Amino acid sequence: MRSLFTLVLGLFAFSLFAQEPSKYDLAPCGTPPGIDPWLKEYYAHPQNYVTARSIDTLYVALQLHLLAKDNGSGRFSPERVLAAFCQLNADYAPSGIRFFFKNDWDLIDNTLWYQHTTIPQGIDMMLTNNVDSALNAYFAASVAGNCGYNLKYAGVAIAHSCAASGDHTWAHEVGHALSLPHPFIGWEGKNYNSANPTPTQVTYDYTYFHDTIDTQIPAPLDTALVEYLDGSNCDIAADLICDTKPDYLSNRWPCDGQSNSLSKEYDPAGASFYSDGTLYMSYSYDECQTRFSDEEISAMRANLVSVKSAWLADSPAEQDITGMPALLMPADGENTPTTGITLTWSSVPHATHYLLQYTRISSFTVKEFELVTTDTSFTITSNLLPNKNYYWRVRPFNHWYACTNFAPQQSFFTTPATATTEPDDDGWRCYPTLLRPGQALTLELSPKWLNQNSRCSVYDAMGRQVWQAGIEATSRQKLSLPSGAWPAGAYTLVYYAETGVKTRVFILAGK
Ligand SMILES: [Zn+2]
Repeated sequence: MRSLFTLVLGLFAFSLFAQEPSKYDLAPCGTPPGIDPWLKEYYAHPQNYVTARSIDTLYVALQLHLLAKDNGSGRFSPERVLAAFCQLNADYAPSGIRFFFKNDWDLIDNTLWYQHTTIPQGIDMMLTNNVDSALNAYFAASVAGNCGYNLKYAGVAIAHSCAASGDHTWAHEVGHALSLPHPFIGWEGKNYNSANPTPTQVTYDYTYFHDTIDTQIPAPLDTALVEYLDGSNCDIAADLICDTKPDYLSNRWPCDGQSNSLSKEYDPAGASFYSDGTLYMSYSYDECQTRFSDEEISAMRANLVSVKSAWLADSPAEQDITGMPALLMPADGENTPTTGITLTWSSVPHATHYLLQYTRISSFTVKEFELVTTDTSFTITSNLLPNKNYYWRVRPFNHWYACTNFAPQQSFFTTPATATTEPDDDGWRCYPTLLRPGQALTLELSPKWLNQNSRCSVYDAMGRQVWQAGIEATSRQKLSLPSGAWPAGAYTLVYYAETGVKTRVFILAGK
């Protein structure tokens, strides 16, 4: 019963990990409001920047930091990392900006940082762990109560619950890191109310969300002009970006079928409009968001080329992956011992890493084990439960490409520990010793028994031969016995070879 209790506890523990706060319970973004001085300069002297869209892809180095508790638990899973990374690159594909992992993922075990509640804790986390010449991105369970935030001198932080496939928080925070403000800048922390006259300007402070600055110092204020619908002040109002239309909505909001806000807004002149929910830099729901505007893209590219060129690589070091690994060993459905099983798969062109998972749940909704490896095999050294089907699968990726799929899963069946014999002095092994009707026997032979003329017979308890076959003496093979028609009881396998004779007794269970 102890193992059963462990099983229930194991599944329960997994469900606990899944209980991270809903993204709808988090503030969308904790990035301090403000117009990046670089963006002002960019718009003040556009002739100094190449603003035209280039066909050249910009390759941007990312350093990923994955936080866990002190005991190593709770970390964003490799599968979710790959999905989020694929989503990030999909979101930026129209911009010609592509991200790659500069190094392997940085695994940090620190409970305080893992669930930090204030921006200063996040600053400490980033300044302690940042690497040079890369956009540093931190994934943690809690990032100061937000889905994400960007610190322009340090990096971006993303909450686990806001980084599923289809979520755009990572794209949004990277947008901030590449100089973009919110289209509704100035309205952060305010509630637009169409019943009140819309002001011509709004004042905002850098300390609204979090006390990043000593509270003894008066809050630094700035003013943003409110953008008119007709575009007449678009180059000096709000985000300074003219192809993002007016938007005054600073709480997370749903959209209609055209990705427009449901509530109507009025500009200071009384012209009515709906906010554009397609923009990643807005606070619309993730399902509304599909794009950066052309001007936003030009600004991000100019920002990268002019002041963040240290993040850029000339060309991809690795190619996209189109192949799929073949799962080689154990064979699908094969019987295995409960420990010491080596899972082996084929290598895939351009893949440098593989994500391996196994579980007893064929849908993989609960994973019992995940591993990232650069090898094409892995030996399970822990004890699996006996008499269980285990399902396993492998997904290839590299530092530049993760939009891959898992190879079709396979399974193996663990035979009871008591029914698995240790290899004898000759390295000869036969299992299980307790056989279900129709179940195959597995033979393992050491080199001195290989490549000989060999045959096998099975005798029942009365000494009557019930089966015989000539076999090939390979290192590992399965004997499919017609045992479904045999009565339950003890049987003897006799193996004849030039090297000698081996006998093994096994018990056939009842149906
Ligand atoms: Zn933001």
